Amino acid sequence: MRRLRIIQSKYLGRIAEIVAGRLKEVYGLDVVVDEKTFNVTPYSFNALRRQHNAVSIAEVLSKMKMNDELLLALVDVDTYAPGLNYCFGIALKDVAVVSTYRLDPRFYGLPYDESLYHERIIKEACHEVGHLLGLQHCDNPKCVMHFSNWIHDTDVKGYMPCARCISKLR
Ligand SMILES: [Zn+2]
Ligand SMILES: [Zn+2]
Repeated sequence: MRRLRIIQSKYLGRIAEIVAGRLKEVYGLDVVVDEKTFNVTPYSFNALRRQHNAVSIAEVLSKMKMNDELLLALVDVDTYAPGLNYCFGIALKDVAVVSTYRLDPRFYGLPYDESLYHERIIKEACHEVGHLLGLQHCDNPKCVMHFSNWIHDTDVKGYMPCARCISKLR
């Protein structure tokens, strides 16, 4: 069974545990939550954009990764990827990043809604881990592998890969 480690920013509380449970359910992975918290370093910060480059965070994770494991970081900072104004997450080889920053309803001036917030984080984590397991983007808007251009896309899709994507999982 493939092993996935989850590490998270200091103030995300129970989120990693909740995400771990869902990843086990969806992909049947052996998921462990790191007791240590992940500090996003200044290395990935772009002062002009006031955002962190998700690719640079992934590079930091690649160095922390142990052989044979997949590593997912849940971070609370705003992230972008080259060519994008922002991104909810990124996956590079064996490491992935999910940013909770724009998944919080309060970012959009709405009241805090814990179940909506958690569900969004679960969906984006299942999406990035799908990439780690070899899945690509899917046209089906209900499939977790559908690309989220904006938060509405995340709310429309589910946390499960569609039947076609599941058949592509090794
Ligand atoms: Zn994607
Ligand atoms: Zn699909």
